[in-house]
Order: sequence, then structure tokens, then C-alpha cells
Amino acid sequence: MESLRYLPGVTTLQFNEDACVGCGMCTKVCPHGVFAMEGRKARLRDRDGCMECGACATNCAVGAISVTPGVGCASYIIQTWLKGREKAECTCC
Ligand code: SF4
Ligand code: SF4
Repeated sequence: MESLRYLPGVTTLQFNEDACVGCGMCTKVCPHGVFAMEGRKARLRDRDGCMECGACATNCAVGAISVTPGVGCASYIIQTWLKGREKAECTCC
């Protein structure tokens, strides 16, 4: 999802390709298409598209992904989706 971005180069997302067993879960759960399968491994195709929701790390059974969820403005953006702009609140700044 190219239209919803925070700042380039600030995401806490980390990916250990060596640990990946190619299950494909991260490509299914990521709402922004950050991961793609390439052969039998996942690859980061759009790192700056990550909004730090944590879904990929939660669903990676081998711990190949780590991310600190809800930092930056990611939690605000997710709240606007869930609660609407009027009820969302930013707690990071
Ligand atoms: S969920 Fe984990 S093991 Fe599965 S493809 Fe993604 S990084 Fe690899
Ligand atoms: S933390 Fe969320 S947005 Fe970022 S790569 Fe994982 S599933 Fe995608």
C-alpha cells in the first residue's frame, strides 16, 4: 500500500532471511504487502511500507521477523482505521 507511509528508514522491522522456512504466512497477513515470496524464502519487497502492526512477527513460527508494534505513528493510523479519525489518539508525541 504505497499511499499510507510514515517516514522512510525508521521502521523497527527486522528480517532474518536465514531463519525463514518459506511458509508464506508473512505475505498473507501483512496489510501492506511488505513481504513477497521469492522461491522458498520470503523477501522484504517494501520495507518502508511497514506500519509496525506486528502481524508478521506474531505469525512467523520460526521467529525470523521482529518488529516493535505500535511505535511512531503506526498506532494512530491503525486507530483511525478502527475507531475513526475523531476518536483516534496519538500517544507517541
Ligand atoms: S512467516 Fe516467517 S518463515 Fe514464514 S515465510 Fe515469512 S519470514 Fe519466512
Ligand atoms: S509489521 Fe505489519 S505492516 Fe509491517 S511488515 Fe509486518 S505485517 Fe506488514
